This record gives sequence, C-alpha cells and structure tokens, in this order.
Amino acid sequence: MKGKATWICLILILIGASYCLFLWLKSHRSPQLFGRCIHRVDTSEKVIALTFDDGPSSHTKEILDVLRLYEVPATFFVMGKNAEQFPDLVRQIHEEGHDIGNHSYSHQPFIFKSLAFIRDEIQKTDQIIKQSGYQGTIHFRAPYGRKLIGLPWVLYNSNRLHILFDVIPDDWAAPGIDTIVKRVLAQTKPGSIILCHDGNGDNMGQDRSQTVEAIPIIIRELRAAGYQFVTISELLKFDSP
Ligand SMILES: [Zn+2]
Repeated sequence: MKGKATWICLILILIGASYCLFLWLKSHRSPQLFGRCIHRVDTSEKVIALTFDDGPSSHTKEILDVLRLYEVPATFFVMGKNAEQFPDLVRQIHEEGHDIGNHSYSHQPFIFKSLAFIRDEIQKTDQIIKQSGYQGTIHFRAPYGRKLIGLPWVLYNSNRLHILFDVIPDDWAAPGIDTIVKRVLAQTKPGSIILCHDGNGDNMGQDRSQTVEAIPIIIRELRAAGYQFVTISELLKFDSP
C-alpha cells in the first residue's frame, strides 16, 4: 500500500513538472526551440525601444501626438484586422518615422495551430502593412508573446527574428498611471524593449487612457536618466548575436 502511494505521488509530481515546463516553454519568457527571439539587446549603451501592441485603435492618434511632441520614435506591432479597419493610422504611423511590426491578423494564440494557419496570419498581415506604403523591415511579435514549436519553425524558415520584450508594465490591465510608470522605470536597462498597448487584442478592455497619460512621464523620466529612444530596427544595430 505504501509503495502504491509513493508511485502515485511520483506520477503526480511528474505530471505537475511537465505541465510547468510546458507553460514555461510556450510563454514569452523562455528561449525558442528554433531561430532567435529577442527579449532585449545585450548592450551597455543606453538605448531602448518603446513598443505598442494590438493597435491601431482609437487611442493610437493620442499616442502618436505624444511621440511627435517629444520626438520619440517607437515601434507599433499592429494586428492585421485592426490595420484593415484603420488604414489611415497605419500610414500615419510610418509617415511619422515609426517602425511597424506584425502582431498576427486576429490575435489568436499560435499554440497548437497548424503551420498553414500561422503562415496565413503572418502573410495576410504583412500584405496589409505593405499596402499602406510601409517599406521598412516588418518585425514580428506573436500574440501574447506565446510560441512553442510551430511559430518558431515558421519564423526560422523565413529568416525572421521574434521580437519580444523585457519591460512589462501590464498597462493593458489599467493598473493606474503611477503603477505603469513605476514598473517601466524599475525594469528598464540598456537595450530594453518596453511593452505597451495602444489597442486591444482580446476584447478584455478597450480603455488605453492610462497608457496615453503614462507615456509622457516615462519619456521624461527615462530621458532624464540618460536613455535614448530608438525603433526596433535601430536597436537591433546594437545586437551582437
Ligand atoms: Zn497582443
């Protein structure tokens, strides 16, 4: 009886450990099985990239106004279906000197999706971005930063990096302007990639007004600390693989 209980315990521990490993592998925190994902660029130069996910949306214009005022270049990882809805904003983003990235078409997690589905979501969004007249490199970031096997394989075969982030204020949850600012200031270091949201990937809350309010404070504070804001394309020039 005692031996049987020990075996059951061991099996439960094994199942638990496997599940934890699976959660870690698919999360934005783990390294990728194929190709490279970039959480931050390894440099001692005080260069950082501000990035915005899930747009464009009705808040994108306000964020563009702030960036123009402070002359800060940023990178917008747009969703294909939102880009279709707001083509003028997509054009405005790159005309004002920002990078545009691909954040999938519909923001469904790519875990357990077919290679055909993943390729279609990426290609469709690339096409929409190009139709806006954007000629720069289209960087890629997965919905929720999640990956496992299929997405890394598709990116690896198309010679594409996966651009993730190391500064995560969780502004999408609207935790308060002060909290967003404090989290960004506490986590930022040379080469950091800051994850903010100008849009809404999963219809869990549309209001991005706290982000809009926090961005000018973040820019002023980080500039005062000697940081220079650059696009992802510029930041990657400091990368040494
Ligand atoms: Zn997203």
